[in-house]
Amino acid sequence: MISWLHCFRPEARQYHGGRSMKEKNCSALGSRKAERERVPDKEFYRNLVRRLHRVMIVQQVVLNSRPGKNGNPVAENFRLEEVSIPDTINEGQVQVKTLYLSVDPYMRCRMNEDTGTDYIAPWQLSQVVDGGGVGIIELSKHTNLTKGDFVTSFYWPWQTKAILDGNSLEKVDPQLVDGHLSYFLGAIGMPGLTSLIGVQEKGHVSAGSNQTMVVSGAAGACGSLAGQIGHLLGCSRVVGICGTQEKCLILTSELGFDAAINYKKGNVAEQLRESCPAGVDIYFDNVGGDISDTVISQMNQNSHIILCGQISQYNKDVPYPPPLPPAIEAIQKERNITRERFLVLNYKDKFEPGILQLSQWFKEGKLKIKETVINGLENMGAAFQSMMTGGNIGKQIVCISKDISL
Ligand code: NAP
Repeated sequence: MISWLHCFRPEARQYHGGRSMKEKNCSALGSRKAERERVPDKEFYRNLVRRLHRVMIVQQVVLNSRPGKNGNPVAENFRLEEVSIPDTINEGQVQVKTLYLSVDPYMRCRMNEDTGTDYIAPWQLSQVVDGGGVGIIELSKHTNLTKGDFVTSFYWPWQTKAILDGNSLEKVDPQLVDGHLSYFLGAIGMPGLTSLIGVQEKGHVSAGSNQTMVVSGAAGACGSLAGQIGHLLGCSRVVGICGTQEKCLILTSELGFDAAINYKKGNVAEQLRESCPAGVDIYFDNVGGDISDTVISQMNQNSHIILCGQISQYNKDVPYPPPLPPAIEAIQKERNITRERFLVLNYKDKFEPGILQLSQWFKEGKLKIKETVINGLENMGAAFQSMMTGGNIGKQIVCISKDISL
């Protein structure tokens, strides 16, 4: 697929597109003569290749290097490349233009040679990276998909355009998100379902029972929704834990959290005791580590942990879920606190009603949606690094194109 790409390597570029000294001097002598003699540039060869081979040139992001099981991921772990794809498609295929791509914490394990799980495969070095994406169909030879349809996939290549098997895509209705197509990667997509199904399946929320819910990673994609859903389903008090004052303010002033704690400032245990005077009944755990140990220590008898994620441990070579420290495990057992593994992909039968519920709450103004958007395929790595280190408020999205004209 990329064999012809040698003409874009720096040395090839110099040969094909560079100008000789003689040529440069020519422009002073007479521009028309120079124009006639000029060596064809990169764009000329690009068009020639495109015409001769019936291909399109697109950009893609590949895995450049692995951070190591115990390393922090950086933008340079990813690399932007140009590749050609055919400008024709076969039966069953579609050509899509990518509009929005998602960066998510689970991707961290795909950067390792071995993900440590059986449901997701590692990314391969120098191969195109994939993940959640939304786009528009430009060409279709698939019976159920037509030009102009909006589609999504969990395995969308990080590429400006792609030819995909139509069966791998799910058609989405833009009305569900009032035209905000990126919401299909966030609140009206996988993170929204994770929050909703997590609270429903593992939270044991009982309206009118005066329950207190605590959410860690509270200003992120899942956390910001989980707290709101906790209220919607009947928790009387919801407290968020997150990494900045700005995030705390958004939780309490915009998203209806009753209190918020910045875990990077002051004594978290003390602040939590003040914010949860009746103890903690439900803990939506996105982060694990010290924050979770502190919350578990203040949980009530017969309370419940929604074990959503453990992001504080993702750059360490530890099993998932990481075992609790012995003293915390003792508290968990003594107080009969449930801590069952939760994976949204195990609840596919609940996806359709879940999406409709989330969309309805959003349209009724009951579910507020926050996003942080970075533009450009070349910034995928930077967006991933930023999300992993707290740069996002709400869902971290990368906008590849807003152009839906065909
Ligand atoms: P997110 O919360 O939008 O982004 C990650 C956030 O984690 C950052 O913004 C940062 O916010 C926080 N963070 C990073 N390092 C941290 C640390 N050492 N200690 C505490 N907080 C840290 O991501 P998301 O997509 O919503 O995912 C949240 C969690 O849910 C992740 O653990 C993910 O793996 C999990 N998840 C699970 C499922 C499932 O099926 N179980 C599905 C989706 C996601 P701060 O500024 O607050 O530090």
